[in-house]
Amino acid sequence: MNVILMGAPGAGKGTQAKEIVKRYNIPHISTGDILRAEVKKGTNLGNQAQKIMESGGLVSDEIILGIIKNRLSENDCKKGYLFDGFPRTRIQAEGLAEFSKVESVIFLKCDDEVVIKRLSGRRACSKCGKDYNIYFRSSKKDGICDDDGAAVVQRADDNETTIRNRLKVFYDTFTPLMQYYNENKIFHEIRGDGEQQDTLKNIFALLDPLR
Ligand SMILES: [Zn+2]
Repeated sequence: MNVILMGAPGAGKGTQAKEIVKRYNIPHISTGDILRAEVKKGTNLGNQAQKIMESGGLVSDEIILGIIKNRLSENDCKKGYLFDGFPRTRIQAEGLAEFSKVESVIFLKCDDEVVIKRLSGRRACSKCGKDYNIYFRSSKKDGICDDDGAAVVQRADDNETTIRNRLKVFYDTFTPLMQYYNENKIFHEIRGDGEQQDTLKNIFALLDPLR
């Protein structure tokens, strides 16, 4: 089962990805993780990528695709994979298609306003790191951690302006990919702004027949 999961920041990709890989016993592959692994292993591609990253450059599609191809040849990918954060461009999507057939692309669709509430409401304890959300899971006392009484604070990049920018960046890269996978008739939209369990049920209904 070869699946790509897409969604704006705050759409809940991380949560859903965990459940998907558990149910279908496929690896969750993120480009960042495998890039780091390849650099650590000191492979040819890893060394090339490291040089580029150290100079502050962007790792080319060619290198990314090479690393992905290596990763997919590993044993745990025999039953398939779940990509998250890849492909990022149409060129990457076309490159991937040359060595692996994607069966389903799932887009977790969320209203921008829901995402903004989810992200701008996020708070974390400055001491123990416990997560809160002022709209959904607030601490008992405003700004104070339930467990240790330390201050509950907001991350600098969780403010509304930054979030709107991140959303724009996401849609700029997402739109051409959506068009590409729509042409390939494997693009599916699933609402990600309702109850988590409903979203998951819909995802499973879509993926179960691919088993
Ligand atoms: Zn705390």
